[in-house]
Amino acid sequence: MTDTPAMSPTETYRANLAERRLTFQSCRACGQTWMPARSECPNCLSPEFEWCEAGGRATIVSWVVFHVAFDPRYEDRLPYNVALVDLEEGARMVTNIIDLPDGEDVIGRTVTLEFEHDLERELPRFRLAD
Ligand SMILES: [Zn+2]
Repeated sequence: MTDTPAMSPTETYRANLAERRLTFQSCRACGQTWMPARSECPNCLSPEFEWCEAGGRATIVSWVVFHVAFDPRYEDRLPYNVALVDLEEGARMVTNIIDLPDGEDVIGRTVTLEFEHDLERELPRFRLAD
């Protein structure tokens, strides 16, 4: 796992993704976990944090299906979903659900991490676990 002090938290996060590792930060002072990457704890503002690797299980908190592409690069992907998931370890992130069932309420469902090579990057996405 990459953790080079000279890199910004965002650069470290992206370097880890390139190695297909989904990572989040954990505060050494209060234990808060968070995403997206930032230089200080969003709870107590301590700059002392460590990087942790996600185990790959998460719970869907919310999701939405887009039928209009607000960015023309995504026009050929319509309809596509954007979801909020809570990692088992606590951090919350924005992602996409692979093979989201049509018209089904998936809030509270367990999902598992799956990397997809897309937009010339390794992107962390999730799939329903059952
Ligand atoms: Zn803290």
